[in-house]
Amino acid sequence: MKQTHTSPLTIVHVLGSGHCGSTLLDLILGAHSKVVGVGEVVNVYLHNFENPTHDYRCTCEQNWSACSFWSNVFARMGEKTRKSMAGRRIAHSVFRLLFIQKKKPFAGVKPGQRIQLKTFLDNHHAMYNAIAQVSKKNIIVDSSKDSFRALLLSQDKRFNHVFVHLIRDGRGVFWSYKRKYGWGWRALYLWGGANLKIELVKLKNKRAKVVTVRYEDFVKEPEKIVKRVLRPIGITFEPGMMRFADSQQHQLGGNRMRFTKSNDIRMDEAWRRNLTKKDLRLFTLLAGWLNKIYKY
Ligand SMILES: [Zn+2]
Repeated sequence: MKQTHTSPLTIVHVLGSGHCGSTLLDLILGAHSKVVGVGEVVNVYLHNFENPTHDYRCTCEQNWSACSFWSNVFARMGEKTRKSMAGRRIAHSVFRLLFIQKKKPFAGVKPGQRIQLKTFLDNHHAMYNAIAQVSKKNIIVDSSKDSFRALLLSQDKRFNHVFVHLIRDGRGVFWSYKRKYGWGWRALYLWGGANLKIELVKLKNKRAKVVTVRYEDFVKEPEKIVKRVLRPIGITFEPGMMRFADSQQHQLGGNRMRFTKSNDIRMDEAWRRNLTKKDLRLFTLLAGWLNKIYKY
């Protein structure tokens, strides 16, 4: 796909654990006149472009294949890219990222399917360019939150990359997982693991533009924190960003918050009422140290 933009595209990678508030941040950033928020676009791998059998819902409430934005993007990506991306996803293992040779293939999700780093980057290059062409915006917010994927993508020097690390109090994430799935220690593992992986990515990519913000500060003073996030991206705040629910957006994945019709921002601190003493003891024992590092 030919690049038609005069300046290189900027990819803003939102990184964080599950339930860290990334959907809200994606919606607010996506309401900027120069930005398009595409949400958890890593899920594009779940899509069978030619024959969608399991279609997901876009923020516009249409299914991906019925949404005019995504069907346009998919068409512009070209057949080769569509075929190469369908059903494939980069492996998540630390081992593969840290020790694999660049020329060796990565394993995909399906057994026997493998993908080269170059193919992975070229596929995303085609996808991001198609998104820029359809949206007519040259700043793309990708809140897939997968830090290793973002680290791999940041090797593509055809783009500017900005990392936003969104941290949320581990007890809040613990409660969100517990409420949704009934998980205990597994939630702690996911929260701690996600944040430690992000710290590793920040260490490995010291020259990258990184901004670290806390969910609680963001919700308390959204305008102030959004301004801080915009600084490394190189754009200024627009008041219209706070009316994020009024703009038509097309996040491909993310939580239910995407479908909100309200511009209200409310702090979710339900964990304070719902976590038991036993839960809090387990948390302190296994993850309290990391929460302290993040000044909770
Ligand atoms: Zn849509």
